[in-house]
Amino acid sequence: MNYYVMTLFPEMVQNAMNESITGRAIKNNIISLETVNIRDFAGNRYNQVDDYIYGGGSGMLMQPGPVWRAYQSIIKKAGKNKTRVLYMSPQGRTFDQSYARALSHNENIIFLCGHYEGIDERVIEMINPAEVSIGDFVLTGGELPAITIMDAVSRLIPGVLGSDDSAVYESFYDGLLEYPQYTRPAEFKGRSVPDVLLSGNHKLIEKWRLEKSLERTRVRRPDLYEQYLKNHTI
Ligand code: SAM
Repeated sequence: MNYYVMTLFPEMVQNAMNESITGRAIKNNIISLETVNIRDFAGNRYNQVDDYIYGGGSGMLMQPGPVWRAYQSIIKKAGKNKTRVLYMSPQGRTFDQSYARALSHNENIIFLCGHYEGIDERVIEMINPAEVSIGDFVLTGGELPAITIMDAVSRLIPGVLGSDDSAVYESFYDGLLEYPQYTRPAEFKGRSVPDVLLSGNHKLIEKWRLEKSLERTRVRRPDLYEQYLKNHTI
């Protein structure tokens, strides 16, 4: 998986992605990350990439030229085949685990990060990306959404997590939230780990985990629970 991130703040993206599990995946060449600084494509001696909004209104807007030229520079390398282009936008489809799964099958993903009041509409139309939101709130820029999506997608790519099974039993994998988990010590300030988890009986443990997952999902996310009931008999 090759990620290309078009941004005005490349260090923000590099710093976050080069840490921890994604950082290790980059070092091991399982994923790659190239940040493209839109400012490098400003095309004027002040390196200006934003301007006032036609028709008035507060704030500034990213100009189409630098974004278009930055995009072209990536397409030259990555090609259009097997490349998804995503524009981080609070107006887009809300990102979720099934979207992450679908994205994990791409060869290249280009992220376009807006800033200020966003990006001139014409260049959005020209690039024609899928618009993706990470929730119904407005951030100052698309960098955190891009990092969020890369993180969620990367851990679904074989070899990125220590064990390929780790992503299989997690929340949302089968439409349910994950069961509670415990580690040592077996007793902590008078609270014990449930006996069944210490029993070594894997059938019983699996049954207990499924029951807890169902219970959690029913209480915390009745919407997911209803959906689960439509597809499963319990
Ligand atoms: N004026 C825009 C609007 O009302 O739709 C919001 C612009 S926002 C201040 C600046 C940039 O942050 C956006 O272009 C987008 O790239 C990013 N952004 C903000 N909130 C986001 C969200 N919830 N999901 C994805 N990207 C977001």
